[in-house]
Amino acid sequence: MSCPICGKPTADGYRPFCSRRCADVDLGRWLTENYRIPAETEEETEDLPPEDPPPKAH
Ligand SMILES: [Zn+2]
Repeated sequence: MSCPICGKPTADGYRPFCSRRCADVDLGRWLTENYRIPAETEEETEDLPPEDPPPKAH
């Protein structure tokens, strides 16, 4: 088994991660995803203007 963050071999005490840092990274991601629930709905679209190419200067 390898660290899901960086792919290195896991270390005892930090499993399933290889280090404290990777564990923190994963925790951060987890928290972030909980603060921002992944939107499965279609209401995610904000009022973004249509993508126009930037006007080019002559
Ligand atoms: Zn790692």
